[in-house]
Amino acid sequence: MAVRGAEETVVVVVEDDPNIARLVDMYLRRDGYRVYKAADGATGLDRIKQYRPKLVILDIGLPGDMDGMQLCRELRATSDIPIIMLTARDSEVDRIVGLELGADDYVTKPFSPGELVARIRAVLRRVDAGARAVLSPILESGEVEVDTARREVRLRGGLVPVTAREFDLLQYMVENTGRVLSRRQLLDGVWGWDWVGDERTVDVHVFQLRKKLGSALRVTTVRGVGYLLD
Ligand code: CA
Repeated sequence: MAVRGAEETVVVVVEDDPNIARLVDMYLRRDGYRVYKAADGATGLDRIKQYRPKLVILDIGLPGDMDGMQLCRELRATSDIPIIMLTARDSEVDRIVGLELGADDYVTKPFSPGELVARIRAVLRRVDAGARAVLSPILESGEVEVDTARREVRLRGGLVPVTAREFDLLQYMVENTGRVLSRRQLLDGVWGWDWVGDERTVDVHVFQLRKKLGSALRVTTVRGVGYLLD
């Protein structure tokens, strides 16, 4: 189970099919999300206003006056909250796209809960990355500057040439300053969880960064574990 501590990610699920709602609820809870359900559009809107979720899962076909498309439009009028739509038919996907409702993603029924969870993670990751880049395009670590907008590294103001992977690794370490990062964590975070290869790849890239940035890169090797950036 994912550990999110006190900061649980709230998700509102608007779905009138009780079996699907229950299944989605179960899987999201298992993955550490806090879930609020609604079986029609009006209740969904209430829940969203009340609980201010990080993401909304929205079925298109809903009973009552407000279907999923209308609710999506309503939400988009005032917020950029991430929305994943559930569709019963492939033909509906065309309508979602055609109507430019502004949903972030859509999943066609029947879907596996695992697929939905993966989509949720991907959407939230995109949103978080975007927010981080907007909030603070330049990260600092001592005399080292990591410009995430321009993807440049500067040392005391001077440009330091790094490869794309070295840049990603440095950004990841700076974002996790003060935390001991295992080689596996670094591989997952920088190379991707599905990357298959030798953990020494990490060492090679850290070696290169040390060579280029010298003592300005305050990274220490934690024996038997990985690295720590102070
Ligand atoms: Ca439905």
